[in-house]
Amino acid sequence: MRLSRYFLPTLKENPSEAQIVSHRLMLRAGMVRQSSAGIYSWLPMGHKVLMNIQRVVEEEQAAMGCQQMLMPTIQLADLWRESGRYDAYGPEMLRIQDRHGRDMLYGPTNEEQITEIFRDAAKSYKELPKMLYHIQWKFRDEVRPRFGVMRGREFLMKDAYSFDIDDAAGRVSYNKFFVNYLRIYDRLGLKAIPMKADTGPIGGDMSHEFLILADTGESEIACHRDYISMDWVGTDVDYDSDLQPMVDTFTSKYAATDEMRDPEQEAALGDDLITARGIEVGHIFHFGTNYSEPLGAKVTTAEGGEATVSMGSYGVGVSRLVGAVIEASHDDDGIIWPESIAPFKVGLINLKTGDEACDAACDGIYNDLQTAGVEVLMDDREIRAGGKFADMDLIGLPWQIIAGPRGLKDGMVELKNRATGEREDLSIESALSRMTA
Ligand code: ATP
Ligand code: MG
Repeated sequence: MRLSRYFLPTLKENPSEAQIVSHRLMLRAGMVRQSSAGIYSWLPMGHKVLMNIQRVVEEEQAAMGCQQMLMPTIQLADLWRESGRYDAYGPEMLRIQDRHGRDMLYGPTNEEQITEIFRDAAKSYKELPKMLYHIQWKFRDEVRPRFGVMRGREFLMKDAYSFDIDDAAGRVSYNKFFVNYLRIYDRLGLKAIPMKADTGPIGGDMSHEFLILADTGESEIACHRDYISMDWVGTDVDYDSDLQPMVDTFTSKYAATDEMRDPEQEAALGDDLITARGIEVGHIFHFGTNYSEPLGAKVTTAEGGEATVSMGSYGVGVSRLVGAVIEASHDDDGIIWPESIAPFKVGLINLKTGDEACDAACDGIYNDLQTAGVEVLMDDREIRAGGKFADMDLIGLPWQIIAGPRGLKDGMVELKNRATGEREDLSIESALSRMTA
């Protein structure tokens, strides 16, 4: 992409409405614009990152055998009356009526919807287990939408649902998601710590929230120091193997969010205790028959009886993650994207747009990178070099190739690593082979 043609409305000044760094940087880097409180438009570069995160989630969900589908944003109130949640949900739910006066709502989540679909389709235990997910916009009329996309009213969530014959089988599905989530966050360059969450009336230990540590996080958390240095899951997970030992490793140490903290355990930890703030980037929950019971989702059993299916739901905050990654990865100059989700891998800076030789050399590098399948954003705007450097650092592409008349005379460019700030002078060929390796 040529920056002269790209829609990237960057801002030099810090927008006064933004209280935290990720929000400031997303506005300054031209990624999003607020439409109304907690509702955002995603501009081309923000949208690219959002879709890259979505792709990582999709790849990992596929790897664990969870199937993608798409449910609507608008749901019937009557369905939520069946589960009893229509009245219970409160003012966070956006309630609407269609022209026939029928009560509808903008989905804040999809347990009822998926349970209805499953109930009407599944008949026998032989069809279990099943894992299904979609990535869809949700609406929750949050009391305090803030921090940009981190706590929006409209936000993109991946929500998955598991269906099993009983709670023991449900635990197997739960463990798959548990490990899968560690994989997802790892690929996004994040260390998300699983913390025991409140399971409400059904009890048990099958609910975890995944939090990344950040000063701007909304939750006050406490955990064992070991989580900071713990080795994360490898790239190869055999989802058909027994994952309980792996889950046990990650849950063996103390880690709790505000409402789950235990002063006694914390006192016992002494110097091993860390208290910090955290951002919730995912939540998994096994809730048994909470929805399948009222909605009547049953299957026949091997013995010829009937069983109400045991379910779980598993959410990842896809749009919140864009902000969370920035909170975890930035410096004074701007964003530092991990390569896995960077909007472009390389930013090519033409230091002297309008200079014939310089333009020709940059076009050559640009074309070679494109041909090799490397995503590149070339700054070919007719502005001062200082402005180009500042914008390129601000938008945080992992690599910068800086090309000016002086170096190009000898066929040389500068390669800069955005994360480390390291710069080296290289021949065009070496720079290209480094970027395409
Ligand atoms: P929170 O405690 O932050 O309000 P929640 O517990 O209500 O979140 P879940 O229903 O567990 O959220 O939703 C799954 C994931 O969706 C959360 O872990 C979070 O990452 C994301 N999420 C929830 N609410 C919002 C929001 N208002 N804006 C952006 N992302 C959100
Ligand atoms: Mg939650």
